[in-house]
Amino acid sequence: MNLSLEEEKRIFNFLQQQNCCLRCCLRFIGSRTLDCFKDPAEFAKRAGYITEAKDLSSNNELLCMACLGILQNKIQEQVIRNIQVEVEKENYDSETFICALTIPVCINLRERFLHMQCATQLKLPEDTLLALKVKLQNIKDVWKWIVTPKIEQTIKKQLDQSTPSPFLIEIILTCKSNEKECKTLVSMCKETNNTKNKRKRKYNDNRYSRKSIETLMAKITDEEFSQCFTALSFETADSIEVGSIVCSHSSIFIGGRYNKLSRELSQTPWFINGEKKMQTSVQDILCNPIAQVVKAQCIKFLSSGREDVDVRNIYSGRPFAVELINPKVTKITNELLSALVDEINQSSKQVQITSNLKVLSRLDLKRLKEGENIKTKFYRALCLCRNTSKTMVPLEQLNHLKRIKIIQKTPVRVLHRRPLSPRERLIYEMRARWVQPQELQELDITNQTATMFFVLDIKTQAGTYVKEFVHGDFGRTVPNLCDILNTEVDIVALDVTGINLTWP
Ligand SMILES: [Zn+2]
Repeated sequence: MNLSLEEEKRIFNFLQQQNCCLRCCLRFIGSRTLDCFKDPAEFAKRAGYITEAKDLSSNNELLCMACLGILQNKIQEQVIRNIQVEVEKENYDSETFICALTIPVCINLRERFLHMQCATQLKLPEDTLLALKVKLQNIKDVWKWIVTPKIEQTIKKQLDQSTPSPFLIEIILTCKSNEKECKTLVSMCKETNNTKNKRKRKYNDNRYSRKSIETLMAKITDEEFSQCFTALSFETADSIEVGSIVCSHSSIFIGGRYNKLSRELSQTPWFINGEKKMQTSVQDILCNPIAQVVKAQCIKFLSSGREDVDVRNIYSGRPFAVELINPKVTKITNELLSALVDEINQSSKQVQITSNLKVLSRLDLKRLKEGENIKTKFYRALCLCRNTSKTMVPLEQLNHLKRIKIIQKTPVRVLHRRPLSPRERLIYEMRARWVQPQELQELDITNQTATMFFVLDIKTQAGTYVKEFVHGDFGRTVPNLCDILNTEVDIVALDVTGINLTWP
């Protein structure tokens, strides 16, 4: 149902008398064009709603009873200034943005109150009131129409709602009288509830949340609402204030492969009772320089599996990615990435990047996660035979074994972390050979007889506990190398020599 021009005029003028700004008067009668909100005085004059166009930018403009200043120039200018300060402070390089506006819920109360005022004071028939309610133009939409072009101009970035832009500006507007007005509604509903249902309702600290107020608003009738609020309820309003402006950029991901060349380095920072137990970690060495360059707020280290503190990772490297949370610099060139590789590799002898770094998509990340389960892994272990008597099966026998199925109970060393049910894994193949005397010298093992050590290359399914496969873990892994060789075998050192995943 449409309002006649006469009705529109009456309502418009009535709202003006209630101290509504011209933009609010227009949105109450359902104006929907950008033009009318851009220059409301000019539009209202042309449409015949008002006779003379007053200058809206003047500081004398009264505080609007409906929007509490949200749609008035003075507050808008302040919001834009604050946005500019915030964006420039952090120097986000994104060329686009989106914004999210949060307004106090008392605006909803005021809108409903004004509808009720129109209905009673202007004696509107029920269907006219209904039409009026339907026509109300959303205050946030109007705000976005008029304010975002100004934001674009000020911060020199384009609004992009369709992609949408990864750079979000959150604008939180507050109002001091919000609580008082919500309280009026809540206490009224409490009363009616008590008398109607004879039972006490629990109102928690969240009682003035947008959701709870909206729920209450939906529940009560117009009559109840009118009883609850009088013009007096809204008389001493404070204007809108800028509560906060929060800028954030969605995460970007950078990944590559790394080798870990130390047997005294944990993968992630290791804390016990808040105390850092090791000076650095794979995560620190790889991620800190990257986080610094993109000015990320914080990071999350993601890798395809992990190695123990005393296990090295050599040859092609382990796939990894770092999530950079709220980065300020997001234009990542290949030059920047290769400079980062150099910087990281020069900074540490313990960790080396072995591939190019690459900016990753979400799809890439899925591959990293999935790869954890399907990939095969290659290890090299230095093993020690304590007893090489005649009963020992010749080492060369190992070279002929294929696809050995083993059952592993959770290793004793990780039992406190994840007690899982026994799992089945495959050892695809092995190569074993005795260590040469000169190799032992290189390894700095001189006080033992060379014949006791052998090198084992092993290809396994992801998730195999290799150390336990070698020494048996008190019979928790069966069969194990001790069973197969019929002697006592221990593991001295372990290297990861390959992880089968195309990456990055
Ligand atoms: Zn207004």
